[in-house]
Amino acid sequence: MGRYTAAVCRLCRREGMKLYLKGEKCYTEKCPVHKRPTPPGMHGARPTRRKASEFGMRLREKQKLRRIYGIYETQFKNYFQQAARAKGVTGTRLLQLLETRLDNIVYRLGLASSRKEARQLVVHGHVAVDGKKVTIPAYQVRPGQAVSLTERGQKHGRLKELLGAAGRAAPSWLELASDRSGGRVLAQPAREEIDVPVQEQLIVEYYSR
Ligand code: SF4
Repeated sequence: MGRYTAAVCRLCRREGMKLYLKGEKCYTEKCPVHKRPTPPGMHGARPTRRKASEFGMRLREKQKLRRIYGIYETQFKNYFQQAARAKGVTGTRLLQLLETRLDNIVYRLGLASSRKEARQLVVHGHVAVDGKKVTIPAYQVRPGQAVSLTERGQKHGRLKELLGAAGRAAPSWLELASDRSGGRVLAQPAREEIDVPVQEQLIVEYYSR
């Protein structure tokens, strides 16, 4: 299966909320969730849509989380299985596995305006972990490891632009470098430090059916 390449704003309209998939546009009035707050498709604006079933609600929650992080179905299922095998609360562990992906950390550190852009930076060799170039977006960054731009990344025009901008604040489980060109993972994020609007328990129930 190929990566989703159609208009990503449709995904936000389908979920009925902003998933922040497009970078700067998401923070402007141009966001289609403001302009057309109905599901996509020719029947999206119909006033009498059926109430979602329990299965439908669980499915939507799973799709929402998968779309926020831009993960394939199979890979997402693998994350769930890994979370289910681990100690602790499965839903929280699932979110932690997604949050500590290298592409997400690049995004959280403000080095990219969206997770998609972060993934590209990693794949194109602009990101290093503990000083060593890593080109795998799914690479799991552990507490204590430092994420930074490679020498080539620091000369990248788009990155210079992002470093010059005010940027978003990094979450408390990440320590931003003083020049904002990278940072360090301090600890595994706690659930309340992951600002992702999903009810992960519904995802656990979806896979437990
Ligand atoms: Fe979603 Fe961003 Fe498109 Fe708005 S602009 S619909 S938040 S991807």
